[in-house]
Amino acid sequence: MIEEKPRKKRKAQVAKQDCVACGCCTKVCPKGAIRVYKGLYAQVNEGLCIGCGRCAAECPAAIIEVVKVDA
Ligand code: SF4
Ligand code: SF4
Repeated sequence: MIEEKPRKKRKAQVAKQDCVACGCCTKVCPKGAIRVYKGLYAQVNEGLCIGCGRCAAECPAAIIEVVKVDA
């Protein structure tokens, strides 16, 4: 029997302790999936994020990583 591999999705992850809350990432997200929480740090809504990586490319602090997670 062939075992099915778990499906993976790509999601953005923020190293929030290093976030400077500039908001650059929020302006380029096509899904409105990333926002700055209470002016403190960026937070990703995993249900909306499609892992496109635009936020990561835009972040001046280079603290967003797109990772594979279980679907
Ligand atoms: S990876 Fe794409 S969809 Fe996900 S938060 Fe970043 S810009 Fe938005
Ligand atoms: S672009 Fe980077 S530093 Fe700026 S709010 Fe987003 S995650 Fe934080």
